[in-house]
Amino acid sequence: MAVTESLAEETQGPAGAAHEGILRRQSARESSARTYARALPIVPVRARGLTIEGADGRRYLDCLSGAGTLALGHNHPVVLAAVRQVLDSGAPLSVLDLATPVKDAFITELFRTLPAGLAGRARVQFCGPAGTDAVEAALKLVRAATGRTGLLAFTGAYHGMTEGALAVSGGASEVRAVRLPYPQDYRCPFGVGSPYGAELAARWTESLLDDPKSGVPLPAGMILEPVQGEGGVHPAPDDWLRRMRRVTADRGIPLIADEVQTGVGRTGAFWAVDHSGITPDVMVLSKAIGGSLPLAVIVYRDDLDVWQPGAHAGTFRGNQLAMAAGTATLAYVRENGLAERADRLGARIMAQLRADIGGLACVGEVRGRGLMIGVELVEPAGAVAGHVEHVGDGRGAAPAGGGPGGYDSGAAPFEGKPGGYDSGAAPLQVKPGAYDSGAVAFPGEPARAPRPAAPGLAAAVQRECLRRGLIVELGGRHSSVVRLLPPLTITDEQTSAVLDRLTDAVGAVAREAEAHGPVRRTD
Ligand code: PLP
Repeated sequence: MAVTESLAEETQGPAGAAHEGILRRQSARESSARTYARALPIVPVRARGLTIEGADGRRYLDCLSGAGTLALGHNHPVVLAAVRQVLDSGAPLSVLDLATPVKDAFITELFRTLPAGLAGRARVQFCGPAGTDAVEAALKLVRAATGRTGLLAFTGAYHGMTEGALAVSGGASEVRAVRLPYPQDYRCPFGVGSPYGAELAARWTESLLDDPKSGVPLPAGMILEPVQGEGGVHPAPDDWLRRMRRVTADRGIPLIADEVQTGVGRTGAFWAVDHSGITPDVMVLSKAIGGSLPLAVIVYRDDLDVWQPGAHAGTFRGNQLAMAAGTATLAYVRENGLAERADRLGARIMAQLRADIGGLACVGEVRGRGLMIGVELVEPAGAVAGHVEHVGDGRGAAPAGGGPGGYDSGAAPFEGKPGGYDSGAAPLQVKPGAYDSGAVAFPGEPARAPRPAAPGLAAAVQRECLRRGLIVELGGRHSSVVRLLPPLTITDEQTSAVLDRLTDAVGAVAREAEAHGPVRRTD
């Protein structure tokens, strides 16, 4: 079946008609800013765990999980029980920031999970209920605490849709924060991949901060995601995170870890910063901490607590149902070792995907951490044959393919000039088998470029997945990354079903692309 045919053609009968009617009314009445609804024309009416049932009677395996919100999947029994308990108790449901037993229990459970360096000295601020509200709160806090205004943020970041959060996100339309390179291997901006790309990114950051003429005054804070999610699923190397911690601590710059998407076991540790062992000054938390209901907080070290009463307020800071659902979720993840399970399962999923589809010409890379997984789709027709001109050294093109022996460099570039600097860091050597940046290669750089991103193919994979009853998200700079964010409770059997459907969908799109050339986005 052609990948452009719509799901609607398959839904028949009264249930199908109701489903079609709801979708039609949605597109007639809701804002054109709607997002997921465009690519996922489903009408959920019931859900449990990994499974969603649509108004048309179809069942789907949901690996979108409310954009990473549902650590325990839909309607987990412990979450439902916690919500029912509050409802049955007669407790008020919305209480601004007043103290309640439900909130007290939430804070106790949350603090139990925090990195050790923060837990003993933590303050929590309940802000508006979305992740973006918590980002705004964190930015305001560090500005108040330092008396400075500038911010350090990273390429590819996503922190939300309100003005301040957008300003530190990759999609910002004007420069209101200093943008630093976030380490990434497949499209490493320095063309050298891991670990050298991360090293260069760190040195660039240090040099901006230490060069008195860099044009970058001492900032109020640095905000980063330990794994970039919407940016295309890029896990930061642990060493790089530790380096950012050192760089900021040494210069008195508060480090804000945005764990809105990575938190509560998602990446294979309870908080993604736990992988590297760093203690941020501020943590931004939302999504899973509300156990599927809206809740957001910032947690920060007590000496940053310079706010005057009312300095950051809001009406919806007292959602008791969300706090109860969140407490149940945090406790369940902790008590059942779901972070460790996410780590194991994620490794299995990625290994299987690499084996099954990693070799396809339209698959650029399979990457991720824990149950935050991405498959980057690339244009097979745009494949770079491995011809990269070396400029200026008269040695001509490097042989195809890169890899050990695939270049002729003489001396490795970036190697620390003896005595030329004293950074404490090991001198850089370009890694054979990494990637280049396009037209211009340094001597020693391998001759293989990442192929162009293929948003059309990624959208086609998403449609083919949906046709097979699998819901996946798209992300990445070019919307070319198919993302899996399954609940941490996904069973081994369900994991196999997800893998079968995704592999089948990618295979179908790869065959279609081969037969008909590039597939274009239709939404
Ligand atoms: N920060 C990160 C890392 C996110 O992934 C998101 C949303 O995906 C946000 C902030 C914004 O959260 P919200 O959509 O709840 O405003």
